[in-house]
Amino acid sequence: MTSVNNSMKPDYQKASAHLPDSAEKRPASVPGTEPLSDPATRDYLLNVAPSASESPDPFFVAPGLPLNGSYTFDRFIEGDCNQFARSAALAIAQQPRHTTFNPLLIYGGVGLGKTHLIQAIGNHVRQHSNYKVLYTSSDHFTSDYMQSLRTNRNNEFAAFYGDIDLLIIDDIQFFSNREKTQEGLFHIFNILHQTGKQIVFSTDRAPQEMAGVADRLLSRFQGGLVADLQQPELETRIAILNRKANDQGIAIPYAFIEFIAHHVKNNVRELESVLIRLLAHATLHRREIDIPLIREVLGELLIDTRAKPAVEEIRRIACEYLGVSEDLVLGRGRKREIVQARHVGMYFSKQLTGHSLATIGRYFGGKDHSTVIHACRGVENHMETDPNFRQTLKRIRREIEIRHR
Ligand code: ADP
Ligand code: MG
Repeated sequence: MTSVNNSMKPDYQKASAHLPDSAEKRPASVPGTEPLSDPATRDYLLNVAPSASESPDPFFVAPGLPLNGSYTFDRFIEGDCNQFARSAALAIAQQPRHTTFNPLLIYGGVGLGKTHLIQAIGNHVRQHSNYKVLYTSSDHFTSDYMQSLRTNRNNEFAAFYGDIDLLIIDDIQFFSNREKTQEGLFHIFNILHQTGKQIVFSTDRAPQEMAGVADRLLSRFQGGLVADLQQPELETRIAILNRKANDQGIAIPYAFIEFIAHHVKNNVRELESVLIRLLAHATLHRREIDIPLIREVLGELLIDTRAKPAVEEIRRIACEYLGVSEDLVLGRGRKREIVQARHVGMYFSKQLTGHSLATIGRYFGGKDHSTVIHACRGVENHMETDPNFRQTLKRIRREIEIRHR
């Protein structure tokens, strides 16, 4: 971490008088957010902050956002659903600026751990190196950039960002339809990328589904490594619940943990909130944690227990519709119709079962998870360009749904 030596202190304190209000007023209660404790903020003050005589206007609303100190790799439970993304993130954290994964783009639905994972990279790098780390969100970046334009100082803005070693931007789907900011980001991306600085993004949708983002930027987003986070499988949900209950100091018998994990499937945030409510009941109402209490806490989550279709069922229907035998789909054959049936089966399995990519791959004759990603992308692209194919897929989906009522 960049240290501030004593001889620099007077300047640093003087400069702080010109920090934008919002930066100074960031709440100190969030971990790592004491005013000006952020290394990036200090560097900004020491190196690029203009003195008051040059210009009184701040060109930032506030550079970056604080990292949550509890979002670490150690607290991120690994499972099939996140293994690939986690390994890529860890590789970058351990050797920032020395991996080929640049940018790293993490994508996944809400509550699946995107923010946790990308902040874990930031926390790790801050703890283990002198690299300048800046974590921000697309909204925050937009405010900063617009402020720099308003004050006619986007050169300083670019100089500041160009000097960051690890730039992490959360939720880049919100850059959509913000053309001006996209231009600014494009410029900064190029500076950083050309100088070998590491960039990490997160988004809640696949890049192909990001409407309102300029093609040149989309291709930059995907130019490094794209890794997705899937819904956690039962074993991972159990491991997460166990760990979180432990961290909170609550003892919950394994059978109860399994019961909760069985019913709460959508995402990790939901799992956490069930635990917190259980804890509240147990402590505030002094109730013992038992199945009736768990049922009460789960509430409507209990009702939604319709089973999802099995991969085998989807595979069979896809093969039937596309006129290919299942044996061929399980094999290594590369003939067009075989590949298509295989890909369509994988695509619907991903859409409808909640299994991880790796698990789905295993159901298709032991293919690996990148084959499944490739298959899903291929099917999505094909659907975009071919209305007949889209129709066929619609029929297959309906068939799966009908047979699975
Ligand atoms: P997202 O940014 O994808 O919406 P978050 O990173 O905010 O999701 O995760 C939601 C909550 O779930 C956070 O409290 C996070 O710590 C927790 N979480 C997500 N994935 C994991 C995991 N694999 N292990 C432990 N906690 C997790
Ligand atoms: Mg998030």
